[in-house]
Amino acid sequence: MASLKLKNMYKRYSGGVTAVNDFNLDIEHNEFIVFVGPSGCGKTTTLRMIAGLEEITEGELYIGDKLMNDVAPKDRDIAMVFQNYALYPHMTVFDNMAFGLKLRKTPKDEIKKRVHEAAKILDIEHLLDRKPKALSGGQRQRVALGRAIVREPKVFLMDEPLSNLDAKLRVQMRTEIGRLHHRLNTTFIYVTHDQTEALTMGTRIVVMKDGYIQQVDTPTALYDRPNNMFVATFIGSPQMNIITAKLEKQGNDLHLLFGKNDIKLPEGKAKKLEGTDYIGKEVLVGVRPEHIRDEAMYLESMPESVIESKVDLVEMLGAETYLYLVVEGAMATVTARVNARSKTRTGDVIKVAIDANKIHLFDKETERTII
Ligand code: ATP
Repeated sequence: MASLKLKNMYKRYSGGVTAVNDFNLDIEHNEFIVFVGPSGCGKTTTLRMIAGLEEITEGELYIGDKLMNDVAPKDRDIAMVFQNYALYPHMTVFDNMAFGLKLRKTPKDEIKKRVHEAAKILDIEHLLDRKPKALSGGQRQRVALGRAIVREPKVFLMDEPLSNLDAKLRVQMRTEIGRLHHRLNTTFIYVTHDQTEALTMGTRIVVMKDGYIQQVDTPTALYDRPNNMFVATFIGSPQMNIITAKLEKQGNDLHLLFGKNDIKLPEGKAKKLEGTDYIGKEVLVGVRPEHIRDEAMYLESMPESVIESKVDLVEMLGAETYLYLVVEGAMATVTARVNARSKTRTGDVIKVAIDANKIHLFDKETERTII
C-alpha cells in the first residue's frame, strides 16, 4: 500500500528559477495521478523530487507515513520509467529487466520468475534474448515498463513515457498502461504535456502552470468545472472558445452582448450573478465547440442564443465536423463541433445556436471562473 503526501513543496534552482511553488497534494493508494501542463510548468521537477533525483528545496514528502526528503532514491520503493527508456544497449532484454534485481542481490530463481511474469504481462517473452537495438520503439517502451514492474515497487513514476512513439502506438500503449495499473493495484504518477493523455488515463489530474498547481480534479470535473480560463482552455480539444462580451441587465434578465450578437443567460446562471459587480461590465465568455451547433433542431430549441457567423473553414473528420466561424465581436475564430453530415460549406453565412446552459464566464482581469 502506498499513499503519498506532498506538503508545501518548493524547488528553487540556483540562478533564481523557482520551478515548483508551494505544491500540496495527497495521493491515495492505487490512484492514477497525472501531472499535466505546458512545457516548463514544473511537472518533471515535481516527479524527480518524488523519485529523489532532485533535492526538495523546501517542504515535505511522505510515502506512507515515512518522511522521504533525505531517503536515497533506491530506498524509496519506487520505480521510474523515462521518456528515452534508458535501456542498457549492451544487455539483452532479460538482463535489462533483471538488472535492478541483481543489484539488490535477489536470488536467481526469483529474478527469473519475476522477469518471465512481467514479460508475459507485457507480451515480450519472445524478445528476452534480444538487445535493445533490435527492438521497435513500442517494444523498447515495454521493456522499460517491464524493468519497473519486476521491482514490484509501491509507486510507479512515469515521465512522458509515450512521447517517442507514433500516434497509433501511443493510443495502444495508453490503454495498456491503464490495464497495467488495474492489474498491479499500485499507485501511478504520470507526467505528460498532452491533455488527451491526461483525460484518458488519470483518475485525478493535477494541472500546472508556471510552477503552480491550477486545479486538482477528476477528468470530468476538470472538463465541466474548470477553476479558471487557463484550465478551461488547456483541457479539451479543440479548445474552448473565449469571447469578450458585455453583461447587461434587460428587464429581469441578463444578456451577453458582443458585436451585434445578444445571448440571453438562462435563469439559473443569471441568478448566480445577481448582486455581483459584473453586471454592466465586460466578462470573458467560454463556450466549448460541442455547445455551438448549426442543426435546425438546436436553432429552434434555443432561439434566445442564436448568433450570426460566416464560415471560414469546414473540416470533416469522419465522425464529426468542425466549423471555423468568423463571428462579429469575437477576436478569434470560433470553433463549432457539429454533426458529420452537416450541410454547411466554407463561405456560407449561417446562424448557429449556443447552448447557454453550458456557458462559462471568467473575470476579465483575474481570469478566474465566475460561473
Ligand atoms: P517539459 O514538459 O518541457 O519537460 P516541465 O513542466 O516538466 O517541462 P520542468 O522540467 O520541471 O518543466 O522545468 C520547470 C522549470 O525549471 C523550467 O523553467 C526549467 O527551465 C527550470 N529548470 C529545470 N531544470 C533546471 C535546472 N537543472 N537548473 C535550472 N533550471 C531548471
